[in-house]
Amino acid sequence: MTEDPSGSPPAASLPRFFSPSAASTYDKCPRRWKHRYVDKLPDPPGEAALVGTFSHRVLELLCGEEPSFRTIERAKELARDAWPSISAHRDYRALNLGPDAEREFRWKSWRAIEGLWGLENPALVDVRSTEQRLTAKVAGVPFRGIVDRMDNTDAGLAITDYKSGRAPTPNRRPEALSQVLLYAAAVEADTGERPVQVRLLYLGQEAVEETVTDEGLGEATGGLASSWASLEADCSSGRFEVRPGPLCGWCPYVEICKEGGSEVVRRVKAGRMRKDAPARAALGI
Ligand code: SF4
Repeated sequence: MTEDPSGSPPAASLPRFFSPSAASTYDKCPRRWKHRYVDKLPDPPGEAALVGTFSHRVLELLCGEEPSFRTIERAKELARDAWPSISAHRDYRALNLGPDAEREFRWKSWRAIEGLWGLENPALVDVRSTEQRLTAKVAGVPFRGIVDRMDNTDAGLAITDYKSGRAPTPNRRPEALSQVLLYAAAVEADTGERPVQVRLLYLGQEAVEETVTDEGLGEATGGLASSWASLEADCSSGRFEVRPGPLCGWCPYVEICKEGGSEVVRRVKAGRMRKDAPARAALGI
């Protein structure tokens, strides 16, 4: 990118693909999206995200087994087998966990894995595929994503995604479900087969499910198209708005973002920022 002599910010290239996580980052704060996807500044996963990576990996391996082998005992063996590659990964090592914190990390991961059995019996699931990559034009947007699991059910195809974070409150469920509805739209655009159901399995908590309808798909794909249109305008102007808010406490760019840094300071003073928010340590407050 070259600097415009008029002082305007340089235009940015549009990405080749838009994933649900990129769209979610953009919707929450366009400037954060720019730092990550245009400036390519590091955004290493935190502990919670790595618990999710580990538990997802074990459940992927479990669902690759014959149905009758999908037991808790087998999941324990798979977790033991998968642990060396997780613990050797640079993102995990960067957490720099001591022995107690590492035990806690493994315990949290196991609780998420074991939490699957409170939601379904995996031995009874007819798994069609796991970690399915999807690339399709969805509402005119070049969409890309990876679905945790696609299942055959009596009614048709179900799209299933595991979540190790906290389940959403009822008023936030539509926003959470839009990710799996986009996967459903991408499957339909790519193969012509419309999935009948989307499911978010909040491990150890609850299943948030929805029947796929024209209306649900329309809302999710309309939201994606509107974010993409806004992103196109931002890329062409080079101006990416900041949206300071509670999530600045977890933004890896808070040290280079004046507005975000001020937001965190304000929230800390008002007692409205969690003690474990990484931005507090980054800013030394
Ligand atoms: S600190 Fe807040 S306002 Fe700044 S880029 Fe991050 S999320 Fe956006």
